[in-house]
Amino acid sequence: MSLNPLGNYHSGSIEVICGPMFSGKTEELIRRVRRAQIARQKVQIFKPAIDDRYHESNVVSHSAQEIQAQPVKDSLEILKKLFDSTRVVAIDEVQFFDESIHKVVSKLARRGIRVILAGLDQDYKGNPFGSIPQLLAMADSVDKIQAICTVCGGPASKTYRKFDQKEDQVVVGEADIYEARCRTHCDYSEEEELLFFHWGKPVDQTQSPS
Ligand SMILES: [Zn+2]
Repeated sequence: MSLNPLGNYHSGSIEVICGPMFSGKTEELIRRVRRAQIARQKVQIFKPAIDDRYHESNVVSHSAQEIQAQPVKDSLEILKKLFDSTRVVAIDEVQFFDESIHKVVSKLARRGIRVILAGLDQDYKGNPFGSIPQLLAMADSVDKIQAICTVCGGPASKTYRKFDQKEDQVVVGEADIYEARCRTHCDYSEEEELLFFHWGKPVDQTQSPS
């Protein structure tokens, strides 16, 4: 290990905490931040300005634990607001950032900073959200955590939008709009239609073999 630009031997790292809504991602982010603070490491916490739920400058989890965060309008603003003494950078709702976020995260880690990211891995249609695929690929550690399916009580990896009033990927909301669901209790009718289109007409099971 060589000296990093901060003049010490700390190696940077990238940790991703992902999963559906209501899975406890932000609680886990806060837990890691608190441990770093107990270890007297300088921590900065950022979140995208788009996420204005509950409180403008706090990262607030659904269980009402909270911690001060700086809202930023884009990923480059994280670099502009970074202090030289910062050892740990935590970013919540990372899926909402622009496509430069993975370059910013890489730059932070190369400076010897421990980067902790939390965010949704999939949108309400089950598609990868924003720059999450790149961030998962470049991470040193990934924790994919599950919520509880509101229909069957099983482990839930999906976020289900109850009222599909808009086609937009981003509709900021809470339990009024979204639920955690398992794979069985999500609607994949669009995907099914697409597969039907590619595979053509399925074999008619009702016909007896000749
Ligand atoms: Zn279920």
